[in-house]
Amino acid sequence: MRNTQWFKGKKILVIGLAKSGIAAARLLNDMGAVVTVNEAKDMTGTKEKSELEDMGIRVISGSHPLHIVDEGIEYVVKNPGIRYDTPIIRRAVDKGLPVVTEIELAGMVCGGSIAAVTGSNGKTTTTTLIHEMLLESSVPSYAAGNIGRVACETAPAVQPGEVMVTEVSSFQLKGTEEFHPRTAVLLNIVDAHLDYHGTRDDYQQSKAKIFVNLTSSDAAVYNAEDPVVAAIAEQSDADKVPFSVNAWSTEGAFIQHGWYWFRDTPILSADEAALPGRHNQENMLAAIACAMLNGAEPDAVRTILRHFQGVEHRLQFVGRVHNRDIYNDSKSTNILSAQKAVAAFEAPIVLLAGGLDRGNSFDELIPSLQKTKAAVFYGESREKLAEAARKAGLISWQFADTLEEAVEKGFQLTDEKDVFLLSPACASWDQFQTFEERGDTFIKAIKSVKVPR
Ligand code: ADP
Repeated sequence: MRNTQWFKGKKILVIGLAKSGIAAARLLNDMGAVVTVNEAKDMTGTKEKSELEDMGIRVISGSHPLHIVDEGIEYVVKNPGIRYDTPIIRRAVDKGLPVVTEIELAGMVCGGSIAAVTGSNGKTTTTTLIHEMLLESSVPSYAAGNIGRVACETAPAVQPGEVMVTEVSSFQLKGTEEFHPRTAVLLNIVDAHLDYHGTRDDYQQSKAKIFVNLTSSDAAVYNAEDPVVAAIAEQSDADKVPFSVNAWSTEGAFIQHGWYWFRDTPILSADEAALPGRHNQENMLAAIACAMLNGAEPDAVRTILRHFQGVEHRLQFVGRVHNRDIYNDSKSTNILSAQKAVAAFEAPIVLLAGGLDRGNSFDELIPSLQKTKAAVFYGESREKLAEAARKAGLISWQFADTLEEAVEKGFQLTDEKDVFLLSPACASWDQFQTFEERGDTFIKAIKSVKVPR
C-alpha cells in the first residue's frame, strides 16, 4: 500500500494540468515529492505556471516530450481526459510505471471514509443528493467532483468520522489501483465514451473498478435492474446493497406500494419526491441507500427528497412561460439521458435536440421521438436526428441553425400545458464551450419567446 510517506523525495510526473492537475501537483509537492508537470498547451507567462514554479515545481509546457518519462520518474498522475494512446502515456505504461488519476491520490490522503458514485448517467444528481442528506443529518460531509472541489484538493481536510462524497467517471476509475471507497455506488452502464475507451469491455471494466478494492466491511450499492451492473456487483467481496424501482428486496432500497424504503425503514411516499422521472427514482434510491449506510437519519433523507429540485442543467425546471412548463436538460449528452427525460413526463412534449456529431445514429431514440408531439433539431447532428424522426413517423419537426432559433421555432409548436424540453442527446462542443453555456443560452432565449399564434 502506498501512503503519503511513500512520495517523499520521489520523482513524480503530472501530465495535463487543468484544475485536477494543479491540485494533484500541489498535493504531491506538499507530500515532499519532486514534481514535474507537463502540459500540452504553452503556459509561458501564465499565473498558473509562475505559482507552480514558486512552489519549486518544474513546469514543461507546449508539448509532451517523451524523454521526461525517462528521467527517473517513479509515478505518473495524468489528467483523466488524456487518452492512453497518447505517446507519453504509452511510454510510461511500457516502462511499467504506475499511471493514475488524481482520485487515487485523494483516496490516499482522505482521513475519513469515501462514498463514491459512478455510472453512465446520474452521478452528479446522486452525489448531490447523498451529500445533502448527510448534511441534513448532521453527518459532516464534503462533496467533491463536479460539485465542490477536485477530490484530491478536498480529501486532505476530511477527518475520521467524516465522509467525502465524490462522483467518479470511467476515465478517473481507469487510472486507479488502490482506490478504496467504503461505500461505492454503481448506477447504470450504457455504451458511452467508446471513442476514449476503444471497446465496450474496457469501459465496463473501468466502471467495475469502483468495487474491486472493497472488502466485506464495505458496501456495494448497485442497480439491480441493470443486468451489466448486477453482473459486476456480483463479483464484489463487499456487502451487496441492491436498489430497484421494481423489485422489493430487504437487502437494499426499493419502492413498494408507492413508498420508498430502505431495508425495513419506510422513507417517503413516492408522490412526495420533488424530482421527476423514473431515472431520478433510481438516483433517489441509490442516494437513500448510500446516505443511510453512512449514518443519515430517515427524517433528514425525507426532507431532502421532498425539496431537492435537481441540479442545474439536469432536467431542471426553469419555470412556466405562457402556461408551458420549461425544462433545461442541457447535461443530456447521450441518448440514454434524452430517453429518460422524455419518459419523465406525462404531458405532450416539444423537444429540442442536437449538437456534436459523434458518428452514432439515433435509432435508439426512435421510441422517445414517437412519444414527443414535435421536435426541433439543430447543430451538427441534426440530419441524423431527422433521420430517426422520419423512422419514428414524427410529423411535426423542423431544423434550426442555432439553439436560439430552435427555441423560437419550437415554442411556436407548443400548446398550453405542454412541456418544452431541451434534452440534446449530444455533447455541446459543436456550438458551445460547455453544456452549462448551452443551458444558459436556452434559459436566456426562453425569456423572449412569443405566444404561439
Ligand atoms: P452525470 O454526472 O453522470 O453526467 P447527471 O446527474 O449530471 O449525471 O445527469 C446527466 C444527464 O443524465 C441529465 O440529462 C439527467 O437528466 C440524466 N440522468 C440523470 N440520472 C439518470 C439516470 N439514473 N439514468 C439515466 N439518465 C439520467
